Amino acid sequence: MREMSVMHGFTATVAPVLFKAACPDCRSRFELSASALRLAIGASRRTTFYSFTCPECGSAVRKPAGERIVELLTGGGVRTLRLHTTV
Ligand SMILES: [Zn+2]
Repeated sequence: MREMSVMHGFTATVAPVLFKAACPDCRSRFELSASALRLAIGASRRTTFYSFTCPECGSAVRKPAGERIVELLTGGGVRTLRLHTTV
């Protein structure tokens, strides 16, 4: 009998995902957890952005999110808000 290293039922790796971010106001760099970030997906790429609150100066930062960033953030469990609803 062969032993297989398959962890049955343990597919979820709950490692904290950290995203590197920088504040344009105070220019500090930090790492944010998924819960600190918000992603908004609009109708076009121009209205797709992610936002967070700078832990250093407290200013609300909003940055455009490209496709790659969207993938990263959604894959990391960031709360996603869809601004454009197709009815
Ligand atoms: Zn700041």
